[in-house]
Amino acid sequence: MYGVVVCSKCKRAKGVRIGQKTTLCQCGHTIKLTTAKIKSRTDDARQLAKAVGLESARLRGGREEYEKAAQPPRKGRGAHGRVADAAEKAGNRDAKVRAVAVGLSRELGTFSARDFAVVLVSLGISSPEKRLEELIETRFIYQPSPDRYKAV
Ligand SMILES: [Zn+2]
Repeated sequence: MYGVVVCSKCKRAKGVRIGQKTTLCQCGHTIKLTTAKIKSRTDDARQLAKAVGLESARLRGGREEYEKAAQPPRKGRGAHGRVADAAEKAGNRDAKVRAVAVGLSRELGTFSARDFAVVLVSLGISSPEKRLEELIETRFIYQPSPDRYKAV
């Protein structure tokens, strides 16, 4: 019996023989098979290579999705500028921060921590993560889903 495990360190898929206690990943990490999650199993050694390939493709897909998500939204670029322009006139720093949250909610529906940071940084306001936390604490904004924020 063979199985596919994923290295917890480098996230690469590896084929193993079920019953081994450990296996050494190409990154140098020792994967403990007693605790590792077996992704798929097969009796056929030839099927194992295919299963490893499938799991690798799945992992790669996940990484592409992640990298895409980490990019600034292309659609949001114009919106960031408009929100920054409007917030610029809002007065003191706290008023600007709130104007950014309201502006982004209006332009994008909900916004990410990155949208918020991009606009605050363009306004010369530091520590956007802290400002975002303050808005959540004061219930000026809420979080309808992970990394999506909206003015109340
Ligand atoms: Zn590894």
